[in-house]
Formats: sequence, structure tokens, C-alpha cells
Amino acid sequence: MSDNNEFLPLDETYGTKALFVGSEAEQWNSLATVPPITMSTVFKQASLDEPQEFLYGRFGNPSRKVMEKCIAALECGKYCYSYASGLGAIHAIFTLLNAGDHVIVGDDIYGGSNALINKIFKRIGLETSFVDTTDLSNVEKAFKPNTKLIFIESPTNPTLKVTDLEEIAKLAKSRNILTAIDNTFLTSYFQKPLNFGFDIVMHSCTKYIGGHSDVTMGVLITNCEKLASELEIIQMYGGSVPSPFDCFLVQRSLKTLSIRMDVHQKNGYAVAKFLEKHPLIEKVVHPGLPSHPQYEITKKQTSGHSGMICFYIKDAEVKQTKKFLTSLKMIILGGSVGGVKTLAQSPSIISHRQMPREEKLRLGITDNCIRLSIGIESVKDLTADLDQALKAAFE
Ligand SMILES: *Cc1c(COP(=O)(O)O)cnc(C)c1O
Repeated sequence: MSDNNEFLPLDETYGTKALFVGSEAEQWNSLATVPPITMSTVFKQASLDEPQEFLYGRFGNPSRKVMEKCIAALECGKYCYSYASGLGAIHAIFTLLNAGDHVIVGDDIYGGSNALINKIFKRIGLETSFVDTTDLSNVEKAFKPNTKLIFIESPTNPTLKVTDLEEIAKLAKSRNILTAIDNTFLTSYFQKPLNFGFDIVMHSCTKYIGGHSDVTMGVLITNCEKLASELEIIQMYGGSVPSPFDCFLVQRSLKTLSIRMDVHQKNGYAVAKFLEKHPLIEKVVHPGLPSHPQYEITKKQTSGHSGMICFYIKDAEVKQTKKFLTSLKMIILGGSVGGVKTLAQSPSIISHRQMPREEKLRLGITDNCIRLSIGIESVKDLTADLDQALKAAFE
């Protein structure tokens, strides 16, 4: 501040006005038809006696609440809690357990989930058995007196193995064991595992739910009040919460989820059928094709299919697989799934490269295996791009 009076006096209330005028907490009720993005981490309390619905950003936020409410409803579930990523959500599931507990895990789960369990939760005292859950006898053999959770994915990544949800839930219920499923690949539009007796459903919203490859988030849905209150505590104090802006993006994406999934399904089928007939293709894996090993189970528990396809190029070694992937013109070589643009990758060379070779071969992840996440482009452009890249691979 100037200590001579040659200048005009400063506006003494300037700073205070900048803080309060036009943004008094009481006046947000504009009747906007799109939920506003509420960035505030602090919520004004009316009194010391009665807590308001919102207090502090990590505990709860209006943008988060509208999104969670809608995701719960779409899953036909009562409670939804969101986390800063899909793995953040899986981390929350495993945090329900205690050191010394045993978990049965599907052997073909997402690589990041596998790393979370093997690199972190094993170190802090969880016992694990990774089994092929498509064969229920493997699950029965894996039960131990300290088994507390079965965690699966169906269909799996990348080989799209399908597990009988109802039978798994029955096996677990009779032993008082929790069941949780990663439902990322189908979304609640095509598969609702709570209806088959699962306790917790998880999604990476980074994939189909977000759908535009511009947000990282995970959610858990349950109907059980006791689990809900534990998951809420893990959300509040585990600290892995999504930003209000990301909640806004996901809430916005929910509005087109059903239409996007319809197109992913239509395009996925069309591309799978095109590849099945292609002379340079050895095999196509798509749970909606009668050739899929768990086609009958699939019909009983899902109402459709996403854009996930896995296929094997005939007689291709690493060299031809690389040439195929780098020859694609429109389809993007990229290690994610579920976006509006088609993505292709080699599980053996990219997503599962750290897995021991024998393990990869056992799961069917060979060097000529390609994973496609089919987007919403026109089928004609997709098949033309795949066809030219397949031919280029052997030139
Ligand atoms: C991507 C993915 C995850 C992990 O989600 P992030 O949001 O990347 O943490 C978990 N499961 C499946 C099936 C996925 O595809």
C-alpha cells in the first residue's frame, strides 16, 4: 500500500466483493436441465446441530451424486460409489478384506487388476488362487476355510471367456463368500450381474460408460446396505475420488450409452462375421457367435454384445502381426477399449507382455492374436481397413 496520499484511495471492499457478490451459497437453484458441474470442495453449513447433505468435496459432491444415482439405477442396484479409476474401484473391493483372507480370482482378468492383486494385495497378506472360472469344478476345488471373495470378469480380456454368473453366485452364497464382477466389457445395458446374485458389480468407466476416451473413473454398485456403508467409508477415507468435472462427463455419457452399445454390438457382429470368412483368418472369438465355447451360457445371462472381438491371423508370427497393426489406416493402434473409435492391439506384445510365455499360451494369447474394440464408424470403412492391413501383413 502506498504511504503517501498522492493517489486516489483504494476500494477497501474490493476483495470481499470479489469473494461474495453473485455467488452466495443460497442462490444456486437455476432449474438448469443439465446438472451443473459443482467444483466446490466446501459446502456452507446452516447450523452446528444438523449436518447438511454435503460438507466437504472428498465426502460427497452434487456432480458425483447425480452420476452415482443414475449408474445405480441403470444397473438395477441401490447403491453406487465412484472412484478415481477402474483400478481404484477394484482396490476398494479388495480393501473390504483382511490380511490372511483368501480370494478366488478369474485367471484371465485385466492385466492391471492382476498386477494390483499380485504386486500389492499379496504383499499385504491376501492369499489368492487364480483359476479358470468357466469350469465350475475349478472354483469348487479352490475353496479354503478362509476364502472370503470370488472376483471374476465375464467376458474376459482378451479371449472373451464367459463364466456362468448364476452358478458362481450360488456356490459362493452357500459358503457365505462375497462375489464381485468386473462388468466393464458389457456394461449394465447388456449384463446385470446383481440379478444373478452377485454382491458387487464393478465398471471401469474409462471404457464403454465414458465411451469417448477422455475420462478415467471406476464405479461399484451393490444392493447390500452393509457393503454399501463399508464402500462409502473406503471412498471417503481411501481418498480415491473422481473429480466433479469427470463426474459431469460420465453423467453426460450415460445419456448415449444405450445407443452407443447398440452400434458397438451391430458393428462388432458385422466385423466378426467378415473376419470369420476371411481367408487370412484362423479363428474369430466373439461371444455372440455360435462357435463360441460358452455360447449357451452367454444366451442365458446377457442381452447383447459389445464391440470386443479377438481373432487369430492365419500363420502369422510376431513380424506379420506387427506389420498388420502398423498397416491399419483408420483403426487406431492403442491399448484401451470401449471408445467410439475402433482400437486394435496385440495382447501378446502389448497388454499382456509381462505375462510368462507358458501362461500366455495356456490362455490362448499367442503372437497371432489381435484384440479389437470396435467403435461406431461405418462397417464398410472398418472391413476395408482390416482387409487391406491383413493383405499388407504378408507382403
Ligand atoms: C481398463 C480396465 C480396467 C481398469 O480401469 P482403469 O480405469 O484403467 O483403472 C479394469 N478392468 C477392465 C476389464 C478394463 O478394461
